[in-house]
Amino acid sequence: MNILSQSIEGKVVIVTGGTRGIGFETVKLFLNHGAKVALCGSKQETVQKALNELNKIDIKFDVIGFSPDLSNINEVKDMTKKVLQKWGTIDVLINNAGISDSKSIYEYDDDHFAKIMDINVQGVFNCSKVVAEIMKENKKGVILNTSSMVSIYGQKSGCGYPTSKFAVNGLTKSLARELGKDGIRVNAIAPGIIETDMVKALDPNIINKMAQNIPLNRLGTPEDIANAFLFLASDLASYISGAILSVDGGIVG
Ligand code: NAD
Repeated sequence: MNILSQSIEGKVVIVTGGTRGIGFETVKLFLNHGAKVALCGSKQETVQKALNELNKIDIKFDVIGFSPDLSNINEVKDMTKKVLQKWGTIDVLINNAGISDSKSIYEYDDDHFAKIMDINVQGVFNCSKVVAEIMKENKKGVILNTSSMVSIYGQKSGCGYPTSKFAVNGLTKSLARELGKDGIRVNAIAPGIIETDMVKALDPNIINKMAQNIPLNRLGTPEDIANAFLFLASDLASYISGAILSVDGGIVG
């Protein structure tokens, strides 16, 4: 067994937004490397659907599911308590849940901006705070966040989304500085254009135009991002903290 597999096998991993897209692929990859995974989704039905799908692949997978409101710290605490009851520890947190946005600022109603921040920023903060307390006790842990390429240069409409991902980068860099002394590494991945429901919901003309500008000449896949999460969670990345790793086929460059 290589160093990557050795350092993932048996680890307890929480993946938010784990029911589909990047998160679901990440859940599968960690399970395939012998991790125990708690996945979260926004609804109990989608969580159950994801669990059923995983059970179809392999009934031996050690996986459980939750649907907490991530913007509510008490629901996050409740979830982590259940993970601790089942597996006794938490080794890796992957803050991946997120919603995108393409509305013009002129179309924002009163709550829209706050809703994006609640899920994309407050949720990341809440999970990080609750899990860091557990990792601090263990004197080790890894927190990984899903940022975005738009956190580097913004986007033409849907300003709340890049704003939220700039905040994710800020949390990543600040928590890496604060939590390093407790043995906790904190990093983010900034995906490019990845073929998931989130991207399929966008105007195809916009996607095609963006794809033409990708140096590696293709959209990314959820596997591309999952692979990078696996590397950052493993001991191969034991001296990496505070990084915002672009996984984008070279778009940001
Ligand atoms: P997706 O829409 O396929 O999946 C989003 C996941 O987040 C789902 O599992 C959903 O259940 C969960 N989620 C959404 N709202 C939630 C809530 N309120 N509470 C709990 N869970 C919630 O999206 P995806 O493309 O797989 O995106 C995953 C992450 O990657 C997001 O943070 C997104 O911003 C980021 N990202 C995606 C792309 C891309 O091109 N797809 C690019 C850059 C960054």
